[in-house]
Amino acid sequence: MPERSPVSSSQPVIQVHNLAKHYGPVQAVDGIDITVARGEIYALLGLNGAGKTTTIRMLLGMIKPTAGVVSLLGRPLPGSRADLWADVGYLVETPAAYPELTVAQNLHLAARLRKLTSRDAVDTVIADLGLAPYARRRASDLSLGNQQRLGLAKAFIHRPALLILDEPGNGLDPAGVVEIRLLLQTLAAQGTTVLLSSHILAEVARLATRIGVIHDGRMITELATEDLPAQVHRQLSISTRDPRAAAAVLQSAGHHPITSADHRLVLTGHHALEHPEDIATLLVHAGHPPTHLAIDEDDLETFFLRLTGREASS
Ligand code: ATP
Repeated sequence: MPERSPVSSSQPVIQVHNLAKHYGPVQAVDGIDITVARGEIYALLGLNGAGKTTTIRMLLGMIKPTAGVVSLLGRPLPGSRADLWADVGYLVETPAAYPELTVAQNLHLAARLRKLTSRDAVDTVIADLGLAPYARRRASDLSLGNQQRLGLAKAFIHRPALLILDEPGNGLDPAGVVEIRLLLQTLAAQGTTVLLSSHILAEVARLATRIGVIHDGRMITELATEDLPAQVHRQLSISTRDPRAAAAVLQSAGHHPITSADHRLVLTGHHALEHPEDIATLLVHAGHPPTHLAIDEDDLETFFLRLTGREASS
């Protein structure tokens, strides 16, 4: 296993400043800053075309930025010594494998390219990624999800200090997504730093420690995953037999009901949300008992679409 580079725990593992990539008039990435500390799982979250892959390719030195500065593990790009890549594992878009070779042969080759001396490296990564039943299968015969597992196995095989993964959940079934999540969380707890991209907020909300939302090449917000619940909108939704009369009752009690397209009354005031029983009592006493009363929360995807200005208008 390669020596870990001596990155002090206070030094960011990833530091990106004002990173930009323009393709003619297309501003694929437009001046983003990212700082990731050791042991974090940082998710770049964005819709298709937001600029995630372009950012990741620049972080890996695969494409040249139009502007900006990137430093990984305390070493600036470009111009860092080639041994930087011994500490980095990556998966970008469709994972490449030799189609005629088996899973095990592909991984032995990856181990040799990484100059790994441990004979266990291949067996360990096959076990970690749940690839044992497919070890002797040709890469060309794998399902999309198992091709993704093979790509992840190649990214992990040398136990790098930093993992950069573009859409690691691609093609995986729900059980596979959970397995990869647990694996990444275990690696992060051991000090591995992970930067990944995704377009699914619900997925990264369970996996990442911090989320950077990118849209049209810009970082529109960064938030700690633990702060997500506070960002999610809540509303009290009420159905009655006579919504118009019930709305008048609520209004005269100082509330501000909005009538939805499907004739529900919606309240967003603090008191209504904290004491829905008061609203129910008020309506019962006024002769308009609710047939339905519930606090609805934005699901995470609605929150994400709201952030990116793509909220459905209904
Ligand atoms: P997806 O999830 O769909 O892969 P993404 O967030 O990874 O999306 P990018 O692939 O980084 O987005 O693309 C960002 C923008 O840059 C898109 O508008 C894309 O069309 C454009 N783009 C990317 N690569 C090129 C290129 N080589 N030439 C021209 N435009 C490009």
